[in-house]
Amino acid sequence: MAKIAINLATGSLQKEEIIVGIDLGTTNSLVAIIHPDTRKPIALKEHNSSSLVPSIIHFNAYGNVTVGEQAKALLITEPQNTIFSAKRLMGKSFNDIKDNSSFFSYKVIDDNTSSLVKVQVGNKFYSPVELSSFILKELKQRAEHILKTPVNKAVITVPAYFNDAQRQATRDAGKLAGLDVLRIVNEPTAASLAYGLGLNKAEEKTIAVYDLGGGTFDISILRISNGIFEVLSTNGDTYLGGDDIDNVIVKYWLQQSGVKEEALKLNKEFAQAIRLKAEAAKIYLSTNNLFNDSLNGDVLTINKQVFEILVQPLIAKTIICCTSALKDAGLTTKNIDVVVMVGGSTRVPIIKKSISNFFGKPVNDSVHPDEVVALGAAIQADILAGNNKDVLLLDITPLSLGIETMGGLMDVLIARNSKIPNKASRQYTTHKDGQSGMKIGVYQGERDMVKDNRKLAEFNLTGIPGMPAGLPKVEVSFLINADGILVVKAKELRSGIEQSIEVKAQQNLTDAELETMLLDSITHAKEDIATRALVEANNEGGQLLETTENFVQKNTAHLSQEELIATAAAMQALQLALTLNDKDIIHAKVEALNEISRPYAERIMDTAISLAMKGKAV
Ligand code: ADP
Ligand code: MG
Repeated sequence: MAKIAINLATGSLQKEEIIVGIDLGTTNSLVAIIHPDTRKPIALKEHNSSSLVPSIIHFNAYGNVTVGEQAKALLITEPQNTIFSAKRLMGKSFNDIKDNSSFFSYKVIDDNTSSLVKVQVGNKFYSPVELSSFILKELKQRAEHILKTPVNKAVITVPAYFNDAQRQATRDAGKLAGLDVLRIVNEPTAASLAYGLGLNKAEEKTIAVYDLGGGTFDISILRISNGIFEVLSTNGDTYLGGDDIDNVIVKYWLQQSGVKEEALKLNKEFAQAIRLKAEAAKIYLSTNNLFNDSLNGDVLTINKQVFEILVQPLIAKTIICCTSALKDAGLTTKNIDVVVMVGGSTRVPIIKKSISNFFGKPVNDSVHPDEVVALGAAIQADILAGNNKDVLLLDITPLSLGIETMGGLMDVLIARNSKIPNKASRQYTTHKDGQSGMKIGVYQGERDMVKDNRKLAEFNLTGIPGMPAGLPKVEVSFLINADGILVVKAKELRSGIEQSIEVKAQQNLTDAELETMLLDSITHAKEDIATRALVEANNEGGQLLETTENFVQKNTAHLSQEELIATAAAMQALQLALTLNDKDIIHAKVEALNEISRPYAERIMDTAISLAMKGKAV
């Protein structure tokens, strides 16, 4: 079975086709390939321009999309229409990000639920998957323009801490952009590959990858042996990076000239201009001692000594993360064989020096830190293309494995090309009050609706004790052993009841059948993802109607006549929208109903809480 998987991945579809490596970053994204003549990885760029594409998407009044530098220029003047940091939203619900919601200057829909988050621009709703697909489409087009050949296959990198849902969302984004995503690779693994680590099978090393980008910091401790990368631990700060360095410089300048920080809020153009100057100063000071410039007649100056003092607190924070990561891996700095620097912000000399001091050894910084991840992805792509025969490839699953969820959607637990043996699990719940059984349908394939995939097995988890909808926690776990046998288990965690089944995952699929299944998924990607979005919107709308109805029934006495009428009208509008097969209309009606019910729901909750508190105090 390993043979089949590798054959496929190495391109029995179309042998000569190029596979690109993509770093889909929070701040910047880029594409790299292995140069066909030199066999060295290179980042793709047009003449006289940067290889980096800012991960920023702008929508104009007609819904036309621009990505990159042009969009970046509109970030401050058109905050509502300009989306940055979409990567932070991948696979997340509003609940996941609500503590940081002020970070986003565009409209992230607050539906107060655990369903996947959406962004509203004008009267359109976009999922993070769609937003990321715009960036990937731009990268694909650039690559095609530079290489003068179609680009349909890619390896995409993600942070090591990305969970299943975030990885799946990244795959979906690739698919939506018309890319067959052959593999999702961890960013620190890619960076290590770019330094040639792991390419020699006999090598055994422990590596620390220090990645300080525009807005995020990640430290990963990896272990390579037998050509296999294992993530021992990860740590970091999802709101710490180059932007913070820019901000301390801005603050310093404002202090110097006696201007209050409120000025930034009051004058957005000024805020944007001074931030850009600060970024320029920071970059300049990486290779010079004194930065001198002016803005609106005011002098802006900063020297290296001052700068290095200003960044100290930031460096200290990253070192605390490094210490925790080492502790989690059960290691000390002495156990680290190699330190790899990643991310544009590690170009700052004092950062490099401090990290080198901390680990007690020189750091690897010879490869451009903002390109190194993409270069590594290109190396991985080349290995998948079968051009680097010396490198061991693990046994991999040729097709994704998942279960059927509400509305007939395929929920992937183990993605195609995952290594074997493997295990994954995810929690599900009931959607009817008192529901006592759950049907678990196991499927194999790349399409978004299970009806288009191959059914492997089905079983029932019965005997779930009566509970309100949403309360049972059913954990479904997949385990593929080294022989490719899949064991699926479902367990209700509150009561402990469980059920399992054994499946042979690759039941007599021929190479040709596999190929057809893969090609189908790409041909149908657009409609599949549209269907998925619609089914999800329908599910969400249906659930909201049900919960609102329950809530209103229980609390009628606490609602005003106006509230009841407004709610009934909004519910009716949503009901109608559910028949229209348009996700944007459904999202808009869901949002409208939420807007109406949120104030009284909060009011009633507050009363309930204060009543409960009173009860305790007596
Ligand atoms: P991400 O991985 O988050 O997408 P990058 O690795 O591209 O981000 O890093 C972007 C950050 O690197 C920005 O904050 C940018 O200002 C910073 N940066 C780029 N070049 C330099 C430099 N020479 N000195 C300091 N910071 C730099
Ligand atoms: Mg990065």
